[in-house]
Amino acid sequence: MRLVILGGGESGVGTAILGKKKGYEVFVSDFGKIKANYKEVLIINGIAWEEEKHTENLILNADVVMKSPGIPDKSPIVKKLIENGIPVLSEIEFAAPFTDATIIGITGSNGKTTTTMLTYHLLKSAGLNVGLGGNIGKSFAWQIVDNKYDLYVLELSSFQLDGIKNFKPHIAIITNISPDHLDRYEYKYENYIDAKFRITMNQTEEDYLIYDADDEAIAGWFKTHTTKAKLIPFSLTKTFSEGAYIKNNKMEISINQEEFTMDTEHIALEGKHNMKNAMAATSVAKLMQIRKSTIRESLSNFQGVEHRLEKVLKIQNVQYINDSKATNVNATFFALDSMNTPTVWIVGGVDKGNDYNELMSLVREKVKAIICLGVDNKKIIDVFGNVVDMMIEVSNMNDAVKMAQRLSEKGDTVLLSPACASFDLFESYEDRGKQFKQAVKNL
Ligand code: ADP
Repeated sequence: MRLVILGGGESGVGTAILGKKKGYEVFVSDFGKIKANYKEVLIINGIAWEEEKHTENLILNADVVMKSPGIPDKSPIVKKLIENGIPVLSEIEFAAPFTDATIIGITGSNGKTTTTMLTYHLLKSAGLNVGLGGNIGKSFAWQIVDNKYDLYVLELSSFQLDGIKNFKPHIAIITNISPDHLDRYEYKYENYIDAKFRITMNQTEEDYLIYDADDEAIAGWFKTHTTKAKLIPFSLTKTFSEGAYIKNNKMEISINQEEFTMDTEHIALEGKHNMKNAMAATSVAKLMQIRKSTIRESLSNFQGVEHRLEKVLKIQNVQYINDSKATNVNATFFALDSMNTPTVWIVGGVDKGNDYNELMSLVREKVKAIICLGVDNKKIIDVFGNVVDMMIEVSNMNDAVKMAQRLSEKGDTVLLSPACASFDLFESYEDRGKQFKQAVKNL
């Protein structure tokens, strides 16, 4: 059997090693450059590869193809494979049949990483033999090579889910859905929503789907579709006999006739959106029958994830917060919503069709000054120019942070939550967040 892998990154190289171990003849083809460390792994493992090209006669003879999630279906080589009737799978689809481990799959537009890390933390702290993978860290396929875990918590993007046929998590979470990546979905929001719901398409009555019951897109999907999985909703506003909710500042979870209650003030993560993430992750912990005392302890000591509403430093009683991962309006909405002091807001970058008006009432209520950190800030200036007292454009992080210090007073918060991608001025959102933290430390 010939396995061709398109894309020599983390998921591609992981799949190559797994494929080789399972007896496939493996070939890796990357249209860009393959990173040196991955090349080395391919060479050591005797796996054939090419870079900066796709040689068709080495690809179209595949029995099965694994495509990296970054490669769109409309790329010419993928189109040709599909025309030739060759199955094109994602990494999780290829890898899952090689393990009996229980799989917990987490998808959504925002909150995937936070919820995945928290779920992992809850299960690991309880002593379970659990692996972490998907879009985070080491690829799922790579970990299956050694097969040393009993269960996996996987962060799954819609692109990973596009390439599944039989993949089925025992527990699925959809954290929320808001428009994103529509360029990959023919600019149709319903296609993107359907892609997210693929996470449940192979689930049976024995499986569980945990989801945000406050989310309009999710509610809309349920009007016209069903799933066999048992449903576990979570909500900030409704209550359930089976599900998770917040009432009187308590998180209440009721699953399989078992209750769990915890004061939200003892949960280390802050902000309403994080209460949702906590409800989702704790529902998994309950399904895995983890002791209440262990759950409580883990929820109270989880330190959050870098670049997600990360508290950096307090300087002259001004709190600096790094939310560089907020690359869309929905994420920034929750960041602003969780501010409880006057806020100097650093925003801007490459916008994927943002409607900033969604933030209007929060900006009016909480933001005293806006610092625009992007190459093109016109939209932000047009929308908020008359709403805040101070608005300033800068073109690098040092200036942004220095300006923020000048505009803030004791008791204020300086929030970097850009609502945009970072590629105009930075390499990545991580680079942007790191530069922010460094600039704050230099103050
Ligand atoms: P993802 O992996 O889906 O991109 P992250 O956990 O990395 O999600 O968070 C991305 C951004 O979204 C951060 O700015 C974070 O503060 C914000 N965020 C986290 N959870 C949620 C949520 N449930 N709803 C909306 N925004 C969220």
